[in-house]
Amino acid sequence: MEITAKCPYCGGEMRDGALPAYKYPLAWCPRNEQGGIVEGEPVRLSKTPVLGGVYASARYCESCRVVIVPVPEIETFTDRAGKWLDKTLGSLGEKIDRASECREEEQAERKREERRKKDPWEV
Ligand SMILES: [Zn+2]
Repeated sequence: MEITAKCPYCGGEMRDGALPAYKYPLAWCPRNEQGGIVEGEPVRLSKTPVLGGVYASARYCESCRVVIVPVPEIETFTDRAGKWLDKTLGSLGEKIDRASECREEEQAERKREERRKKDPWEV
C-alpha cells in the first residue's frame, strides 16, 4: 500500500512530518497476551542515532488524531553481521572442503608410493 497524504480513515489531508529519534532507534513492538510489550521482535522504524538524531517519516491527521509511520527498509547491524558471518563462514567452509580434498589426494599418493616401494616378489 502506498502511503499518501490522504488519511485512510477520514480522507482528509495528512500533514507530513517525522518522528525524531535521539538516543535509540524507533521501533514498533508487538503486545503479548498479558498486554506487555515484546521487545524481542521489533519492527524498526528508524535507523540507530549515532551522532545526531535520526527521523522516521510520518504523516499526521489532526482530525483523526492518528500518526501513520511507514516501515522503511532498514538493514540493522545484526543483519549486516549475519551477512558477514554467512560470507566468512561460507568461504571458510570452502577452504576446509578444499583442504580435505588435498588431504585425500595426499593419502592416495602415499598409498601408491607404498605399493611402489613394496618388494614385487614378496607375497
Ligand atoms: Zn483522518
